[in-house]
Amino acid sequence: MRTATTLFALALVVLVTGPMLAQAGHTGGCTCGQFTAKPIPWQVEHTLAAYQNAALAEFARWNDVANLSTPALGDGSVSETNGRNEIYFQSLSPDTFGLAAIRPLSAFSGSPPFDDCAAKSVSTVCGTYTEADVLINSDFLRGFTPVGPPDFNDDDGPAYYGTTALHEIGHTFGLHHNFRNLSTMNYVEDYAGQYIGIADAAAIRAAYPSQTKSMTDIGTYPFRYDPAKQLYAATTPVSFSPTTVTAGIGAITVSNATIENVGNVTLNDVKIEFYLSTDSTITASDIRLGSFTYTGAFPAGGYDDEPFPDIPIPSSVPGGSYFVGARILQNGSTTDSIAYNNTWSSPGQLTVSGGSTGCPASASDLFLNGGQFRVSLCAKNPRDGKTGRGIATTFNNIVGYFAIPDLTQDSTNFEVFVKVLDGRPVNGKYWVFYGGLTDFELTITVTQVATGAVKIYTRPGLQYGGGGDTSAF
Ligand SMILES: [Zn+2]
Repeated sequence: MRTATTLFALALVVLVTGPMLAQAGHTGGCTCGQFTAKPIPWQVEHTLAAYQNAALAEFARWNDVANLSTPALGDGSVSETNGRNEIYFQSLSPDTFGLAAIRPLSAFSGSPPFDDCAAKSVSTVCGTYTEADVLINSDFLRGFTPVGPPDFNDDDGPAYYGTTALHEIGHTFGLHHNFRNLSTMNYVEDYAGQYIGIADAAAIRAAYPSQTKSMTDIGTYPFRYDPAKQLYAATTPVSFSPTTVTAGIGAITVSNATIENVGNVTLNDVKIEFYLSTDSTITASDIRLGSFTYTGAFPAGGYDDEPFPDIPIPSSVPGGSYFVGARILQNGSTTDSIAYNNTWSSPGQLTVSGGSTGCPASASDLFLNGGQFRVSLCAKNPRDGKTGRGIATTFNNIVGYFAIPDLTQDSTNFEVFVKVLDGRPVNGKYWVFYGGLTDFELTITVTQVATGAVKIYTRPGLQYGGGGDTSAF
């Protein structure tokens, strides 16, 4: 059973190291009772093809771990007491997503709501099921969508059918709630509960040893689970910072992503690649950024959820807004066949500036104020549209100037001067001034290196002069 609540937790920041062995938050789970005959026959009684296919996909996810069920399409006639295990839509209380009806309930462990694994007493009754049905609430107040992946707003729009189905089907395999681990059996958001995690797979393997499969599945999730927190507060969606960068200069840190080796075999050279995409679907043909490789063995049950720092945004990226995404690989280059957890994209979008100017990639930038500020220049000849990157010369700690030999063919013809002055004694800010000795269109990008903060100054073509900013940083 799942009910709706939404809370958000703060991110935890630590350094990147290697994969961790399974520990708090990524192990443990419990089952109680099961069917005598396995795999368990199931009938999908949905009438719409989209929900039929979605249900079959969720059974398949559990079957990736062990040979648990043989789902087939039924004839649409349903009952909790007809001796058939069925999944179907049924009217329930408006705040209920769905429920698992297991008979006899005593074989599962007693009275609902189903026990939390950690709270379950050793004397819990377990036994043999005669029937189990999954009821998805046809009167759920927000309705359902069969189309994934789910979005990150848990209170807005229809709920994701796949998460509810995966959770309730898990109950019928004997899984209890698991409030202390990353698990679809946790009360979590749709975006977190859509995954079978290490904890779920381990509980299934322990309960169904003779049905267990060899499973190769390195997964990545767009959230981080904090085992010190409970329920909805324990998951934080993936994020990145800064949220505005300059192509060819800026870099981002991605936080609150998770990698889990959900399978039961050791993998090698697990690699996470980061991408920019104009839509929320990440593929290998999107704009590839950097990657991180866990050189050598990544053990079964291992995971990592530390931030990924310093992912550069190449100068070739056109200006615009992008989803940040990731793709997980093993052996440095191959994706496993359990595809649903191989990619994700961020809820927020990254704004990339500067790249649209079409400046050449070979930047030669100014570093002023002891290297605290990086200054780049892109210029455009308004008469022929040609663009050129400024080539910098440092005059002193606060002043430098640029030639634009791409446009002038003269590396000693200095066209633009830039000054970054420490005005903090006056108003608490650093000041930026610039002046052009040309009528080229100018784009001057100043980056505070330590924070990634960016200011962009543009001066149109076919005019002279410059500008200033006494509240720049
Ligand atoms: Zn439940």
